[in-house]
Amino acid sequence: MTGCAGDQLVMLNCEDQLLDVVAALDIRDFLMASSGNDEECPLDVALVEGAVLTRRDEEKLNRVRERAKLLVAVGTCAVWGGVAAMDGGRDGDRARLLAETYGPTGAAYDSTPARALHEVVKVDFNISGCPIEKEQFISALSHLLNGNAPLFPQYPVCTECKMRENNCLLIEKGEVCCGPLTVAGCNARCPALNIACVGCRGPADDANTTSALAMFGEKGIPRDDIVRKLRTFAPMEGPGV
Ligand code: SF4
Ligand code: SF4
Repeated sequence: MTGCAGDQLVMLNCEDQLLDVVAALDIRDFLMASSGNDEECPLDVALVEGAVLTRRDEEKLNRVRERAKLLVAVGTCAVWGGVAAMDGGRDGDRARLLAETYGPTGAAYDSTPARALHEVVKVDFNISGCPIEKEQFISALSHLLNGNAPLFPQYPVCTECKMRENNCLLIEKGEVCCGPLTVAGCNARCPALNIACVGCRGPADDANTTSALAMFGEKGIPRDDIVRKLRTFAPMEGPGV
């Protein structure tokens, strides 16, 4: 769908596993990897990247859903709508937005408010991340090849951050770190580099939202600052936020 193709790039960058992956899978339709694709054949699994941002995307996604036994949303855009969905187009005036951005030609563009895949079709599994993590992609493939559902942590980034024994940017420096509300899986990459988490993986199901908001409040961080930051990647309401 519409996205930056970063997740496809991560798939192709799985250098150490790529030969095994190609041997295990019969890849039929992967534009970034092959020029000879079958766009009509039935599929056991469809890995779909990007958000639905055009009528063409919507038609294409519906066709993929019809073809595939399992559909996996790959990347934060596909799972949550991602960066494209913070455009305000949901509640705002799309025609005005297009006119302001593209001028008089904007009205003719095939452009709809960004939607996550699950807002359009049934999604069987999600692999979140902006972009996804190689390890989670390989793990998901292994699970699917063995007939199992992919399993990923639902706890927040803070858990991984504590396991790495990082100094907490929120508690010690009062920074707006979205780790308490963001789903783990990146091994707390940003806080480990002294950079506050911006929530690129989307909300964590197991987040203790009440406690996290209280902690932000104690640090003098307004709730709106947290919500605005989280909505950069996941514009839908976060867990209890
Ligand atoms: S730095 Fe951020 S991710 Fe790490 S423990 Fe503190 S709030 Fe959580
Ligand atoms: S720490 Fe936060 S912003 Fe950084 S990769 Fe992980 S989820 Fe994304």
